[in-house]
Amino acid sequence: MTANDIYAGLGVKRRINAAGTLTRLGGALMAPEVVAAMAAAARASVDIAELQAAASRTIARLTGAEAGMVTTGAAAALTLATAASMTRWDVARMAALPHAADFPHEVIIPRTHRTGYSHAFAAAGARLIDIGHNDRGTGAGVRGIEAWEIEAAIGPRTAAFAFSANIDSVRDLPLVAEVCRARGIPVIVDAAAQLPPKANLRRFVELGADLVAFSGGKAIGGPQASGILAGRRDLVGAALVQQIDMDVSPATWSPPDLIDRTKLTGVPHHGIGRGFKAGKEEIVGLLVALERFVTSDDDALNAVLQRRLEAIARAIEGTRGLSTRVVPASVTGRIPVLELAVDPAGAGCTALELSARLQQGDPPVHVSERHSARGVLTVDPQVLQAEDDAPLAAAVRRAIGS
Ligand SMILES: *Cc1c(COP(=O)(O)O)cnc(C)c1O
Repeated sequence: MTANDIYAGLGVKRRINAAGTLTRLGGALMAPEVVAAMAAAARASVDIAELQAAASRTIARLTGAEAGMVTTGAAAALTLATAASMTRWDVARMAALPHAADFPHEVIIPRTHRTGYSHAFAAAGARLIDIGHNDRGTGAGVRGIEAWEIEAAIGPRTAAFAFSANIDSVRDLPLVAEVCRARGIPVIVDAAAQLPPKANLRRFVELGADLVAFSGGKAIGGPQASGILAGRRDLVGAALVQQIDMDVSPATWSPPDLIDRTKLTGVPHHGIGRGFKAGKEEIVGLLVALERFVTSDDDALNAVLQRRLEAIARAIEGTRGLSTRVVPASVTGRIPVLELAVDPAGAGCTALELSARLQQGDPPVHVSERHSARGVLTVDPQVLQAEDDAPLAAAVRRAIGS
């Protein structure tokens, strides 16, 4: 049975995805090898904590972190990271979450690092404490995060520091890590979409992050509902015990070493992460995808994408009101993309109107709207199937009516 059969049978349209590994479009597509590993994993029983301990060894080897675990996505990893930072090994605190008023529960976050995903920190029961100004974002000034501002915000209620990584913000990470380490405050890095380059798997840990969250269903090419939490062993262990099924007899419970029973103040109940359970299929699929991802050749893959985008650009060229520009990976810091600049006078529609027409077409086509404010739609080829290149170009021409 093919993907087309499955979705057609459900009355759901297959979509051409030139918008990237968006969760709402199903994230990455998995390689046959990953699919096969998940199917095989589905057919035997294992101890999930033991499987997570094995995942920890693989994630540690490939990220340089002390430990790691498979989560149900980067957002889940951020919530678990926050929970672990608030509870450490204290079972009563684990039982109290999300009600954390009686112990450290504040997560410091620079205003420049606020995203729609900040909710994931708060979901553990934390309170976000905003610091600094967004001068660079608003264009009002040049100043970014400064050590004294972090120092001033840290107090007895501080549980963690939230850091949203991107190609620009990463330069501030060593400073943040230095200030927070001196005060014993874990730095949690949201690096969900910071792959490729695969060097970033190690980079944030190297720069001093205590915990790092990656999406498994984006560039890594794992199951859509998977992610990674990598970092300090004590914090990963405290996160893991709040994710796994804990309907156990204290007398017979035998967790892996990653869950340090000598530090736990008792046997926890189901934790705040119980609803984020990673299944054996997701754990195995993520690990197989991660091993493939680290051995892939970024330069060779980018060269192929660059040629495909150039061909799409040629096929679109001459469409009225549209100009094309292939932006190489060396400029994006990630993968090459094709920008379609929409001149409303020529095209008869704005960038967002064109995007809406493409989404409503047959077949439906999705391009990235992240630069639509400057009249640009972006063809992000990360998930685009080669067989969809020509239909994509045809759909763009059709949508403009030329
Ligand atoms: C995608 C994304 C997330 C959420 O990742 P999931 O794996 O879908 O949970 C969090 N933060 C950022 C910056 C993202 O891009």
